[in-house]
Amino acid sequence: MVKVPVKIVSWDEIVEWTRGLSQKIKDSGWTPDVVVAVARGGYVPARLLCDFLDITDLLSVQSQHWTEAARAAEKAILKYPYKVDMEGKNVLVVDDIVDTGETLLLARDYIRREWRPVEVKVAALQWISQVAKFEPDYYYLEVRDWTWFQYPWTRLEDLQQFIARILREDERFKDRDEVSLAELVDVFVEWYGVKPEDFGDYWELAISRLREKGYRLK
Ligand code: AMP
Repeated sequence: MVKVPVKIVSWDEIVEWTRGLSQKIKDSGWTPDVVVAVARGGYVPARLLCDFLDITDLLSVQSQHWTEAARAAEKAILKYPYKVDMEGKNVLVVDDIVDTGETLLLARDYIRREWRPVEVKVAALQWISQVAKFEPDYYYLEVRDWTWFQYPWTRLEDLQQFIARILREDERFKDRDEVSLAELVDVFVEWYGVKPEDFGDYWELAISRLREKGYRLK
């Protein structure tokens, strides 16, 4: 049984999904004046949406997850809150995926309250319907079974985290000084259901980054 189901998303899929999302927005008859990307996951979809919807105004807000020490619960906060006047504007807030929905809700509520536009709507490429606290106004794909979508803009970051997690949590590697790549590969497939070669050159790159950070992979 795979522990963390991973789907590797290609650049072509991103373009196709974003184009599909732009069509849904067009078909709804609602026209945004300004797009706001939620950093960092919303950057690429937001930029592509601007292209497909012919929009020139693109801003960004950054959300950050932090753990409340006492409650050990994850909460999203806006990292650099700033104010702009959106009077008379329709604003579309964009992220890659709505998982818990915390991030998009936070950004939407902040923009509505502080920027005072005519209307704020939210869009994401994907919506994990069984988990999310809310349904975005626009989404392209509904996801029923929770999966980690490995988007092309976080290949290296995710891959390093996937490997580091195995080394930290898998009983076979705990308290080990050194781990061979051959052992790691087998366990990686068990954990994530995808193979190192599915990541192309990124696998080698992730291994060398981890070595630089002090991981002993031989
Ligand atoms: P959320 O839980 O909806 O607040 O998600 C916060 C952010 O974490 C999203 O915007 C994504 O960038 C990332 N994220 C959360 N869940 C996933 C997932 N299942 N696959 C890929 N990225 C995710």
